[in-house]
Amino acid sequence: MDRYCKDWFLKLNVTKTKVMIFSRGKVRTVPTFTFNGRKLDIVYDFQYLGIKFSYNGKFTVAQKNLYDRASKAMFALLRKTRKLFLPLDVQIDLFEKTVVPILLYGSEVWCPYMSDLANKLQIRFFKMILKVGKSTPTNMVLGELGQFPVSIQAKCRMLNFWYKLAFSNGSDKLSCVTYRFLFKMYESGVYKSKFLLSVHGVLNELGFSYFWHNQTINNVTDGGYFNTFKALMKNRLQDQFVQTWHSEINNNEFYYNYRMYKENFEFEKYLSILPVNLANAVLKFRTLNHKLPIQKGRTLGIPRQDRICHKCSSGDLGDEFHYIFVCPFFTNYRKQLLRCYYYARPNSVKFRELFSTTKKSLLLKLAKFMTLVMDCLRSE
Ligand SMILES: [Zn+2]
Repeated sequence: MDRYCKDWFLKLNVTKTKVMIFSRGKVRTVPTFTFNGRKLDIVYDFQYLGIKFSYNGKFTVAQKNLYDRASKAMFALLRKTRKLFLPLDVQIDLFEKTVVPILLYGSEVWCPYMSDLANKLQIRFFKMILKVGKSTPTNMVLGELGQFPVSIQAKCRMLNFWYKLAFSNGSDKLSCVTYRFLFKMYESGVYKSKFLLSVHGVLNELGFSYFWHNQTINNVTDGGYFNTFKALMKNRLQDQFVQTWHSEINNNEFYYNYRMYKENFEFEKYLSILPVNLANAVLKFRTLNHKLPIQKGRTLGIPRQDRICHKCSSGDLGDEFHYIFVCPFFTNYRKQLLRCYYYARPNSVKFRELFSTTKKSLLLKLAKFMTLVMDCLRSE
């Protein structure tokens, strides 16, 4: 090292030079490293090109570090958006452009070690701009906004990075050469790199194993192919997520009413049609941010069948359906605000129809009715 620096007339700042020993456990008895007679510090993690590397080769510390930096950016953004009263879609777009790049920095490399921190920050942001409670189910938050978890982007980045390495047309770039070396070891079973294991696993899971097998046969890269690959991966990952989302909504008792009025995974139009305070009321009503017996009973641990309405003597379950269409306690308001068509013979089809309307006049009335119901039950 000393000789190399002298040969190339390089000056080394010894106070900024650290030694890091990579090992599974923390090395307790460490040898002394010196440079020009000065002792060098031994560290367990080190920030290099914006990523914090840890002695154990994992990226837990790196992700925590990015999470902290992204949180700061997120709060700075929130302060600005609140001052400017920006609409939801603009706030989400700004989050994508100013916070996500920090959060996912270097995820091409650390994605195989991904924790749930990145998704957590994204959900936290969504809940803050929507002003809903912390316990609001993630599936509802993402569902109302039609937004995909940020971990999908990390996976895309990893796959795209892999594609460029694997189909590099024999490039002599250091990363490509290293990749070919790792791949040979992977194929012969000498060493299974976590990065390759992860890429191979995701490709298999998505039904794209042939890309993995093709890398040995057709080692040609082309911008056009890359863009096709990129789009394919993104679409398949998103489709896979929507499928899981649907199955969770349909199979969990928690979403019993939600699945009746929420059909597609997409941004709900009422959020942009209604004025902010009314949109918020509808959102709260739809996402269990209310004190209806069905939700209040859940927090108190009362069995589902006993969470009945106390405003009337029907003995019905006190859920969203009951208050919007049935409960006699609200008959007068209902008559004032809703068309008879909806509550004369209510059923799940009408429930969905009413809740997914994009007619502003109807939405305004519905929002008022929901507000009334929620206010009335809050004081119960
Ligand atoms: Zn009732």
